[in-house]
Amino acid sequence: MTEMQGSTLPAMEALMAALGEGEVLTGADVGAKYLEDWSGAKVDRVLAVLRPRSTEELSAILRICHAHGQTVVPQGGLTGLVGGGVPGRQDVAISLERMNRVEAIDLDSGTVTVQAGAILQNVQEACRDAGGFLALDLGARGSCQVGGNLSTNAGGNRVIRYGMARDLVLGLEAVLADGTVLSMMNQMVKNNAGMDLKHLFIGSEGTLGIVTRAVLKLHPLPAGANTAVVATPDYASALRFLRHAQKRLSGQVSAFEIMWNEYLSTIVDSCGLRAPLSLEHPVYVLTDMQGGQPEADAERFQAMLEEAIEAGWIIDGAVAQSVAEAEEFWAIRDGVADVLRDFAPTINFDVSVPVGRIGECAERIRANLDAQFPALKALFFGHVGDGNLHVVACSVPPEHAAQVRIEEAVYSVVREFGGSISAEHGIGTLKTDWLGYSRSPAEIATMRALKQALDPKGILNPGKLIPPAGA
Ligand code: ZN
Repeated sequence: MTEMQGSTLPAMEALMAALGEGEVLTGADVGAKYLEDWSGAKVDRVLAVLRPRSTEELSAILRICHAHGQTVVPQGGLTGLVGGGVPGRQDVAISLERMNRVEAIDLDSGTVTVQAGAILQNVQEACRDAGGFLALDLGARGSCQVGGNLSTNAGGNRVIRYGMARDLVLGLEAVLADGTVLSMMNQMVKNNAGMDLKHLFIGSEGTLGIVTRAVLKLHPLPAGANTAVVATPDYASALRFLRHAQKRLSGQVSAFEIMWNEYLSTIVDSCGLRAPLSLEHPVYVLTDMQGGQPEADAERFQAMLEEAIEAGWIIDGAVAQSVAEAEEFWAIRDGVADVLRDFAPTINFDVSVPVGRIGECAERIRANLDAQFPALKALFFGHVGDGNLHVVACSVPPEHAAQVRIEEAVYSVVREFGGSISAEHGIGTLKTDWLGYSRSPAEIATMRALKQALDPKGILNPGKLIPPAGA
C-alpha cells in the first residue's frame, strides 16, 4: 500500500469499506494471471483486483470508482492477443471470474442465458448435455470467458456457418461507467423497438460498459461431423475447393481453415503431433461438415472430396475415421498457442481482406517480409472462408522500433487491399497505432464521441481501442 498515490487512496478506502478488506486483492495477493494476456503483454503490478459475485456488486464497485475517477480494467479469461485486458499500474482490474453460472437453457426458444465469467467450453458442454448447440468456438475455449468473447466480438472456427459472436447474441446486460445497469436480456430474434443498444458493448472491448450477462442463440445439435485435412496445389485451388464444398454440402460447411506449408510443419514439431499428410505440399485445408444424418452426410462428404480430387483442386487428403482422429486434426489448428510460447516474442497478425484476394495478399505480405527481414520466420494460416488471415512473425527482435517496421510491412499491404488490421482479435493496446489504416478519421471521431457520451470521465479500460486524440 505504500506506493499508492494520494488520489487513489480514497477510492481504495471506499472499495474496502463497501466490499470488505479481504475482497480487495492488492500487492502479493494479486496472482500473476491478472497481469498478462496470451499476447505476452503484461504489467508488474496493479492497484487492486476485484472479483464481483453479482451485477449488483459490480454496479456498486463502478459507482465508487466513478465517484473517485478511479480507472478500471474489465477482465475475462485473459486469452486475448492485443493487451485489451491487461491493466496499468494505477488501474483496478475487475475480474468477472466469479460470475460464471449458466443460468438457463431454453430449447424451445433456442437460447442459453449465461453470466459473463462463464468459461466458453463449460457453456458449450452444458448446452450439448441439454441437447442444444452453442456455435461459438475458438482455440482458447477452455480458458476464455463469454463476457470477453462478446466484448471483443470473438470470431473463431465456426464463423463461416454461424457468424461472429455478435451474430449469436440476442440479449445482453451491461453496467455503465457510473454503475447504471442496462438490462437488455431479450430472448427474441426480432426486436426493432428502437435502437439495439447491445451492439454498443459487443466489440467495444470494455470501453463503453462492462458486460455482465447475455442471452445467446442456440442451434440444433449436429448429429455428427465429417472432418478432413487436404492438400491443395495453391491458394486459388483452395478457393475453388471452398466454393465447390459450399455448393455440394448446401451450407453445411462448418469450418474451412487454411494452413500454408510452414505452419503445418512448425505445429507438428512444436506440439509433437502426427502429420496427417506429407509435409511437402504448398497449402493445406482443414474442413468439416456438421449435419443431422451421419450416414448420408458421410457419403455426400466423401463424394464432394472425390469430385475435388478429379478437378485437381485437391492433391492429397485424409478423412478422419473417428472422433479421436478428428480431434487430432483440430489439434493442428488449435496448437498455435504452443507456437506463440515456443517462438516468443511473436507478433500476431489478424487481418482480413475480401476472400477472393487473400492468396494475393498473403503473397504480397510474404514478399515484403522476405525482402526486408530475410531471416524472419513467418507462419501463415487463417479462417479463409471468412477472409481472415493470421500471420505469426516468430522470434521477433525485442526492440519496439524493429517490431514497428515488421508491422508496417504487413499493415501497409492490408491498407492497400482495403482490408482490416484486426479481423477478430480487436485493437487493445497493441494495435491502436494502426487503427487509422482501416478506419477513417470520421469513424474514429465517432468512436471518441460515443466514448465521451457513455464514459465522460474515461474510467473504463483507459488507453484501449481508441487512439489518443491527435495521434
Ligand atoms: Zn482466428
